[in-house]
Amino acid sequence: MAELNGQCMCGAVTVRASACEPVLRACHCDMCRRWTSGMFLSVSADPESIEADGPVRSYRSSDWAERAFCDICGSALWYMTTHDNVRNLAAGLFENAAGGSMTFEFYSDRKPRGYALAGDHRRLTEAECLAMFAPEETAGDNA
Ligand SMILES: [Zn+2]
Repeated sequence: MAELNGQCMCGAVTVRASACEPVLRACHCDMCRRWTSGMFLSVSADPESIEADGPVRSYRSSDWAERAFCDICGSALWYMTTHDNVRNLAAGLFENAAGGSMTFEFYSDRKPRGYALAGDHRRLTEAECLAMFAPEETAGDNA
């Protein structure tokens, strides 16, 4: 079990969590690209173990998700699906991206042509992501 200790850019928000095996996921959807100016890199953690302190603000970005950020410095903290409160923690909060390895690339067909992630991880298109994650009635909307 890895213990993860992270913080936002200014240090006002601290995040602790544990993970059996931290894995990294990248999302290239339009909203993640606007939010982060690139891709949103997240790290998996045991949902029960996550603790955050400090000035956390949330933005409801779709019918099924919200995005949290530091109210002082604006650092992205997590993407959370609201039906189950599962938080995908921003990998950048943690030293060495929590030591995780890249496993999934979401919305791979939305990635700009000018850059790419190396490696053999799984790549899912927008249609595959929506089939996997979106509630039936909102499929087709954005993430
Ligand atoms: Zn901050």
